[in-house]
Amino acid sequence: MKSNREDLREGRFPRTEQITFKRHADESDHGCAFLRLFSRVLLALLFPALFGSTSAPAAFGAEHTIPSPDADVVESRPESESGVPLLNVWFLDVKEGAATVVKLPDGKCLLVDGGPPEKDVVVPFLEETACTTLAAVVLTHPHDDHVGGLTRVIKEISVERVYDPAVMHPTKSYERFLEAIEADTRIAYGSPEPEEVWSWDTTVEIQVLNSGFPPGSKELNDASIVLRIRFDSATVMLTGDAEEKAERAVIRRFSGRLHSDLLQVAHHGSRSSTRKQFLNEVSPRFAVISCGRGNPYGHPHAEVLRRLREAGVKVFRTDEDGTIHAWTNGRDWFFEKERLRSVSVR
Ligand SMILES: [Zn+2]
Repeated sequence: MKSNREDLREGRFPRTEQITFKRHADESDHGCAFLRLFSRVLLALLFPALFGSTSAPAAFGAEHTIPSPDADVVESRPESESGVPLLNVWFLDVKEGAATVVKLPDGKCLLVDGGPPEKDVVVPFLEETACTTLAAVVLTHPHDDHVGGLTRVIKEISVERVYDPAVMHPTKSYERFLEAIEADTRIAYGSPEPEEVWSWDTTVEIQVLNSGFPPGSKELNDASIVLRIRFDSATVMLTGDAEEKAERAVIRRFSGRLHSDLLQVAHHGSRSSTRKQFLNEVSPRFAVISCGRGNPYGHPHAEVLRRLREAGVKVFRTDEDGTIHAWTNGRDWFFEKERLRSVSVR
């Protein structure tokens, strides 16, 4: 089985904050190593003079910075994971929209949504991460901020199959996307069914939780394909823009089977999604919100941030953190943010 260690070593971002979350804090050797690394990084951050000009603050930028107060551990690289198969997920900073790249332990890649049109982000990123063949492209639903960037992907990257909830939406972006698929006869194209499980990598199970309109809704967002990905005991849920009716339908069908360590917060943090009951069912430890800085919709809504805070969820945001890289060995989660949330200590 191919290991994804190269991705860990590449130093994907020039300025990063890395956060490691261990599932069991009682693993004494690891625990001590993390504590040692943590104190070293913290000392370097607080007393730059002691660590020379190449110490952490210089690497993070001109201003003195300290880690986000809610960061558990900061370290350089999870070197202890050498040779271990990993599941990688990148939530790309596509401004107001969503595009998520998933790289399975055996190297197969999936792209879930492509962000808004004419953003030169997704194709270059797929090339950088050696995802030049995509096992699947998933369009959660055909709004511009999800389908826009996909046409270029279909034209320039080798794609094996495309999943689409296949609901009518006659816009230019969506039509261009369909035309690009039509023009490439090698691509299998279809609409998945809830309960369907994809297991292209035998160690990973990807289950479809929602696809197409749920009962009582003709709202396009509610047609979003919702996926739960499980690798060993690590789980992540990708929700598109699913709103309350879709969440209810998912709960009705999958109640008790929804827990996910990492939740991509639906609809860019809109208050019409991530309702309390859904959050209780998923009970995530971490959440990522894909949204654009200063967007006209007020995403993410304060109410959703409050619900997440009250549930004790650690939140990452693409508007503040840039592209977010999350990866897991099947048990523990690691996070890398493109931008450090700078806290001035002048
Ligand atoms: Zn959207």
